[in-house]
Amino acid sequence: MEENVPLARHTTIGTGGPARFFARPESIAELLSALRWADERGVAVEVIGLGSNVLVHDDGVDALVLKLAGDLAAVDVQGEVLVAGGGATNAVALHRARAAGLGGFEFASAIPGTAGGGTRMNAGAYGREWKDVLIDAVVVDAHGVRTLSRDQLDLSYRHSALRRGQVVAQVRFRLEPSTPGAVKAYAAELLAQRKATQPTNKRTFGSVFKNPPGSPGAGRMIEECGLKGHRIGGALISPRHANFIENAGGATSADCIALMAEARRRVHERMGVTLEHEVQFLGPLELPAL
Ligand SMILES: Cc1cc2nc3c(=O)[nH]c(=O)nc-3n(C[C@H](O)[C@H](O)[C@H](O)COP(=O)(O)OP(=O)(O)OC[C@H]3O[C@@H](n4cnc5c(N)ncnc54)[C@H](O)[C@@H]3O)c2cc1C
Repeated sequence: MEENVPLARHTTIGTGGPARFFARPESIAELLSALRWADERGVAVEVIGLGSNVLVHDDGVDALVLKLAGDLAAVDVQGEVLVAGGGATNAVALHRARAAGLGGFEFASAIPGTAGGGTRMNAGAYGREWKDVLIDAVVVDAHGVRTLSRDQLDLSYRHSALRRGQVVAQVRFRLEPSTPGAVKAYAAELLAQRKATQPTNKRTFGSVFKNPPGSPGAGRMIEECGLKGHRIGGALISPRHANFIENAGGATSADCIALMAEARRRVHERMGVTLEHEVQFLGPLELPAL
C-alpha cells in the first residue's frame, strides 16, 4: 500500500492531487485483501482505469485508489469470447481480438480506457456500446466476488448499476468471426473519423457532459453559446469540439470545474437545458447549483 501518490499522471487530463492510499492489485486475492483492508478501517475505495473520464480534486482523494494490474489487466481469447481483466486497456483487447480474427470490438479503438472503466461507464462510440458485446462481468467488493450478467449491470447511456467500492475485475465480451485485415481496416477508419472531429492530440478527459436526449448534443449547445476556445486558467474549451476541455498547460481541476460551471450556466440560461456531467469526479468536487 503506497501513500500520497500523485494521481495527475494517472489521468489523461493531467490534473489533480494525490491519493491518500494507492494500490495495484494483480489478482482477485490481492484485490479482495485490499478491499477488506479499506473496509476494516472505514476507508473509501475508488478505482481508476486509464483515468480517461475522471477529474480528481486538486487537494487529492481521501480514499484507497486502486489501479488493476497483472492478471487483472490481462486479455485472453476463448473461442469467440474475449476475456479481459478489468484493467486491460481497450487497445490491448482490440489487438488480441484482431489477432484472433474476431470483430465487433472495433468501436472501442478510439476510446482510451479499460474493460472495467468501459463497463462502469457503458462506454460507446459509432453506434455501439459495451452493452452490445458484454456477456458478464466479475465484480468484487469487500464482501466477496460475484459474476453479474449484462442485465444485472443495467447498462444504458453512460450508466451502469455499479456503485463506489465495486470493482470490475474481469469482463467477458461476445465477439464475432472476422479477419485480422478487416478488423484493422475498420478500426483505422473509425480512428480517422475521430481525428477529423475531436482533439485527439490534446490532454482531455473525453466528453465533459452527457448528450441530453433529443438535443443536438452538448458540444453543439456549448458552441452555440459562443464558448469554443473559452479559457479559464490553464483549461480551454476545445476549439475543435466544445464538449471537450483541453489542458492547455498548467490546468488545475478547479479550472476545469470553473469552465464546466460556466458552460452549464450559459446553456441553461439560453436553452433551458440542464447539462449532466459525464466525467466522473474523484474527491469532493461538485458543480455549483444553477
Ligand atoms: C480522447 C478521448 C476520447 C474519448 N471518447 C470516448 C467515446 O467515444 N465514448 C465513450 O464512451 N467514452 C469516451 N471517452 C471517455 C473514456 O475513455 C471512457 O469513459 C472509458 O471507458 C473510461 O475508461 P477508464 O478505464 O479510463 O476509466 P476511468 O476514466 O479511469 O474511470 C471512469 C469511471 O469508471 C470507474 N472505473 C474504472 N475502472 C473501473 C473498474 N475496474 N471497476 C469499476 N469501476 C471502474 C472509475 O471509478 C470512474 O468512475 C474518451 C476519453 C478521451 C480522453
